[in-house]
Amino acid sequence: MNVGVCEWKFRAMKDRSMNAGAGPNGLIVINRGIVEYAANEEEVCLVIAHEIGHQAANHVAAGQRNKAVGALIGAVLLGALGAAASYGSYNPDLTRTAMESGADIGGAIGRLSFSKEQEREADYLAAVILYRSDVDLDKARGFLVTMARASGRKETGMLDTHPAGPERLAGWDRAVAEIRASNGQLPQRAS
Ligand SMILES: [Zn+2]
Repeated sequence: MNVGVCEWKFRAMKDRSMNAGAGPNGLIVINRGIVEYAANEEEVCLVIAHEIGHQAANHVAAGQRNKAVGALIGAVLLGALGAAASYGSYNPDLTRTAMESGADIGGAIGRLSFSKEQEREADYLAAVILYRSDVDLDKARGFLVTMARASGRKETGMLDTHPAGPERLAGWDRAVAEIRASNGQLPQRAS
């Protein structure tokens, strides 16, 4: 990798939809729904590693040229900060602001979508990251199966922003086979 963000900020959202996203300056957002849908820690690792992959390959910076997206993410972050600030002491104004912003969070993640090629690359990098971190790749794969099943039921959330289904699973399996064969090497990137 010759570019990209390698410093990350994690933000956990209360949103129960199955979604996660990558934003400017190394921001990685994980909804509570991811943890609820995941069958084990390895599956959560896959989602986080996928978003790290988007950051590491600089997909976010490429997408950030759209200024509207940046503004939207800023609004979402302010909402999240409001929610955190009002957690301890009850403040109706802050809480209302946070709730209004919270309603937009799913949409905000939804609008930060990457190309199919970038999604493939993020999956590949995720597999490399998990392999090198000694996370069980076969267990992690389960989340892609869950997503594929959910896509059959036309659920929204993650599926608006991420490809799901047999094609993605096949891509994952190819990547894993390659990475295992090369002992975790990154392939040469076409310049
Ligand atoms: Zn993605």
